[in-house]
Order: sequence, then structure tokens, then C-alpha cells
Amino acid sequence: MSAALSPAAPAARPAAEVVAAPPAAEPYRRFRLFPTAWFAGIHIACFAAFFVGISWTAVAVCVGLYVVRMFAITAGYHRYFSHRAYDTSRPFAFLLGSVGATAFQKGPIWWASVHRLHHRASDGPEDAHSPLKRGFWWAHVGWILASTHSDTDEERVRDWMRLPEIRLLDRFHWVPPVLLGALLFFGGNALAAAYPSLHTSGAQLLVWGMAISTVLVYHGSWCVNSALHLWGKRRFATPDQSRNNGWVALFTFGEGWHNNHHRWPASERQGFYPGEHDFSHAVLKALSWVRLVWNLKTPPPEILEEGRRSAASAG
Ligand SMILES: [Zn+2]
Ligand SMILES: [Zn+2]
Repeated sequence: MSAALSPAAPAARPAAEVVAAPPAAEPYRRFRLFPTAWFAGIHIACFAAFFVGISWTAVAVCVGLYVVRMFAITAGYHRYFSHRAYDTSRPFAFLLGSVGATAFQKGPIWWASVHRLHHRASDGPEDAHSPLKRGFWWAHVGWILASTHSDTDEERVRDWMRLPEIRLLDRFHWVPPVLLGALLFFGGNALAAAYPSLHTSGAQLLVWGMAISTVLVYHGSWCVNSALHLWGKRRFATPDQSRNNGWVALFTFGEGWHNNHHRWPASERQGFYPGEHDFSHAVLKALSWVRLVWNLKTPPPEILEEGRRSAASAG
């Protein structure tokens, strides 16, 4: 189990100390060719919308795939695979992981390995993506393109290494997005043939459902690493510089309550207080009613009280 799940309140590390972390030892020149070409390519592919056009079907597919995949990343890759903040069956975990993989963020085991390190070493020298260490763009995307954290530290994810189906998914993480791409292309062409009035096509659904939707999911989820350690309010005096930001919470389905999350990472819900909207929590709660997930972990009363006191003293 990760140190991230430790209930003890760590001593607050002053912001000045965090900012004064050692400078980059592994700079941008270590960018890997394939991820960098992929990153550039998928952004450029968005401009193909000018050639394939737009339709209500394409917009619905783009938004629908954003919602489903942002949920799979936040509720699946993050809250389940990284923090085990609730329990579920092995088939449903495999499904969550497979849908998460369609967002092109590698496999759930690699994701959890890097994320558990983030909680253990937040904004310190070992953190893969601290904006205080190497700037906004490094935290947002640079670290993903570099070679520094491209491998999985299996020691940090021994729990998942024991499950063959999750290991298989992690190893062949490119299969679900390729299948999704094929479904969009051939499904779009079939739709165009059956319902010409929809004004769609396989190429159009590929551009809107794969390129544009994936780029939106990318930047949405990457904001958690970059913006949420820079901009927002700090209710809890955590040793890192995590922030709560309601705007980011809107499009990241609750992940914007990042300072709450750093204070108690084991909690399934990240919006701790009334008014802190958390869409992924709402969906998980609904899934718990039909017993697809269970044992949703909550922050202990003393942590909630600590946050209330802190908010009251801040006026
Ligand atoms: Zn963080
Ligand atoms: Zn986390």
C-alpha cells in the first residue's frame, strides 16, 4: 500500500522550501521520439476537422467519449487503481481499466505507479510532475514526453502485479484505443450509409471522437498535475502546494478538490464539503446502489473538522 494512504497528518513543508527544490537534473532534451511525435500528431489531427466537417453526431460522440473517459481516468485510474478508495469486482475493475486505457494515458499499473510516487514525494525532488520544481509546462506535459518516468516502478504497485488480467491490460494498453478508433471509423461509415441525413462519416467520427476528445481529456486531466499545484485555495496545510479549484473540478469531475485529496488520498470522494461538486463521486455512489462498487471510503470526522476549522480561521 502506498504511503499516500497514511492517515497521519504530515508536517507542513513551507512553500519556500518546496520552491527551492534542486533544479532539473534531467532536462527536456531527454524527450522520447514516439511520445513526442504522438503528442504533436494528435494535436495536429484536430485541425482535420476543417476537412471532415462537423455534425451533431460528431459533437455528441466527442462529448460522450470525454465524459466516459474522464470518468474512467478519475474514478478508475486515479481513485481505484492508484488509491483503492473503494472496492469492486475483478471484471468491473478490468472494464474500468480498459475504458481508461482508451484515453491514451498508458496502462493503469504504470499510471498508479507514477501517481503513488506523486503522493509520496509531492512537490519534492522525486515528484515526476511538480510545477514548482520545473515549471507549468513540465508538470502539464513535459514529464510525459521525457524518459525519466516512462518505466513502471513495480515495487510501488505490487498489489496490481499479482493480477494477471490487469498486467495483461497494462502491457497491451494500446489495444483498447485501437479498437475504439476502429469502432469510430467503421461505425461512422456504417451510420453514414444507413442515415445520410446525419451528415457524418467514419473520418469525421475519428477526428472528433478520437483526436479532439482525447486532446480535451489530456489537457483536462493534466491540469490536475499543473494548475492544481499552482492556482486555488489551500484549506489544509499539506506538505505540498496542492490547491482546491472549483473551476478545474468542473471539467475534471471532482479532481479539482486536490488539496482535500492530498490531505486524505484514501477518500473516494474529493469534494469533502457541501457545494464541492464531484461528478465522479456521484456516479460511483450511483454504481454502489447497484453493487457494482462498494466500500466507498470517506474522510474521517476529525479530518473534516480540521478543514472546517481552517476555513473558519481563514475567514
Ligand atoms: Zn497533487
Ligand atoms: Zn491521488
